[in-house]
Amino acid sequence: MSLHSPWRADFPGILALEAEGQTYLDSAATAQKPQAVLDSLLAYYRNGCANVHRAQHLPGERATRAFERCREQVSEYLNAPSAGQIIFTHGATSAFNLLAYGLEHLFRPGDELVISALEHHANLLPWQQLAIRQNLKLVVLPLDQSGRIDLDQAAQLIGPRTRLLAISQLSNVIGCWQPVAELLRMAKTRGALTVVDGAQGVVHGRHDMQKLDCDFYVFSSHKLYGPDGVGVLYGKPAALAKLKHWQFGGEMVQVADYQLAKFNPAPLGFEAGTPPVSSVLALGATLDYLNQLDPQAVEAYEQALHQQLMSGFAARDHITLLGEPNIALASFVVDGVHHTDLAQLLTEQGIAVRAGQHCAMPLMKQLGLSGAIRVSLGLYNDGTDLERFFSALDSALDILR
Ligand code: PLP
Repeated sequence: MSLHSPWRADFPGILALEAEGQTYLDSAATAQKPQAVLDSLLAYYRNGCANVHRAQHLPGERATRAFERCREQVSEYLNAPSAGQIIFTHGATSAFNLLAYGLEHLFRPGDELVISALEHHANLLPWQQLAIRQNLKLVVLPLDQSGRIDLDQAAQLIGPRTRLLAISQLSNVIGCWQPVAELLRMAKTRGALTVVDGAQGVVHGRHDMQKLDCDFYVFSSHKLYGPDGVGVLYGKPAALAKLKHWQFGGEMVQVADYQLAKFNPAPLGFEAGTPPVSSVLALGATLDYLNQLDPQAVEAYEQALHQQLMSGFAARDHITLLGEPNIALASFVVDGVHHTDLAQLLTEQGIAVRAGQHCAMPLMKQLGLSGAIRVSLGLYNDGTDLERFFSALDSALDILR
């Protein structure tokens, strides 16, 4: 019996794509949205939108209250101690840039920033550029065969000069949970700041900030079934207090004169300008939707889909997976076949997978690959989506091999 997602009908986008003959297997790039998100966006504009934190009129006050309620919802979702620890950004990428500029003043030439070999460009380039600006050393933790950060080597490389560790919780290329708790422990014994890229991790299961105990945690709403244009930067109060303001403008200021200004602390001090109000409200609606799902049923379903994906790959020759994926996404290459040729034939058969370097060029280079194909799953995917994928893969490989 084929797996059938009990939540598929909640996502109009996946149904529309199916009606068009498209099998969507690219949720790690961006996920389809539940009806609740569409309703929220429509309601915000149809009922009269207003800017937040500016006006005392009724629409403005209503929008501000709803906006701040969403901040509380995000903090509850992450089990953060308080809503004041949640900064709304424009996405994970802008959160990393905020961090790299906001923390820049803490580092001295020769200090070490530690990342891993599998980081997405969003959690690589802001640190790389900071290292170049301030003459810091960017240390890269290598991976083991399974695609996990190698803990023995990490223990050697996280040292007395380490001032910051920034690592991904779940790789967007390998689909493998990283040993984040152990790495955070190593970094903390050195007194380093810790940043976790939760862009992929936040989508699967619940992550408790008080247990994870990192200084900063980052994610984008659009991968968590929410709208695009908004991301989250969670920080511990002491870590947030270290951030220097980096973008300047409306509503981040306490007092301003022509020559001087005094800025708000986090979160408002780091949300200069009009925030993405509609997206924040729709993120709140997304969390309402996710909160009413049975977490055990979701986890069991995601695992079952993952198993089907893994069995399909295992049943075919000439396919090499990148590392050992353990949830919801996997990348692969086929002996003697260029990934762009295969991607083209899959596209022609209505299979929407991602092909290329997955914003992780240095990782691909290290693996000796020009690119790979990635299949990624959302909670709306059915077993038949994977059956269609494998059937299309077989047809493509009949032509290419
Ligand atoms: N980190 C990881 C692991 C990702 O997969 C992505 C996006 O694919 C990002 C960061 C950047 O997210 P965004 O493009 O939403 O800013």
